[in-house]
Amino acid sequence: MVSEKLAKALNEQMNFEFESANVYLAMAAYCASESLDGFANFFLVQAEEERFHAMKFFDFINDIGHRVTIQGMTEPSNEYNSVLDTFEQGLAHEKLVTKKIYNLADIALNEREHATMAFLKWFIEEQVEEEANFDTIIQKLKRIENDSNAFFMLDSEFAARKFTPPTE
Ligand code: MG
Repeated sequence: MVSEKLAKALNEQMNFEFESANVYLAMAAYCASESLDGFANFFLVQAEEERFHAMKFFDFINDIGHRVTIQGMTEPSNEYNSVLDTFEQGLAHEKLVTKKIYNLADIALNEREHATMAFLKWFIEEQVEEEANFDTIIQKLKRIENDSNAFFMLDSEFAARKFTPPTE
């Protein structure tokens, strides 16, 4: 039986995943305003991933017999200096997500809530991927800083990114 404390923390994380989708939508909007449609697409797909994450929490909270509540969201920054800046803020955001997932896992572990621990395992692994992904792109962007051809090639590459829900 999942405690009220753990159910509340799961619900908060669900809301934070929706908030994450908004963070990436704001980054997509910035890139679109700079006519960088590939980078904009990258963040649109990222936003879809976040909604998918949120819905995994939504379903899980229902499955364990607790009630989901949708909360208000903090406004995302909307201010970016460059594409590199969006990815750097994106990495910082993902590190915050990881911290929150770990806190959740700590509560579940403390309560010996094995079903929740098993549910969170997917997210723990996903966060390793998310951070690595952002970090790789930051390194690439820094390397091609003065090479506009390479920069636009990367933009084209990201135009092809598509959201594919993982099959379990
Ligand atoms: Mg997420």
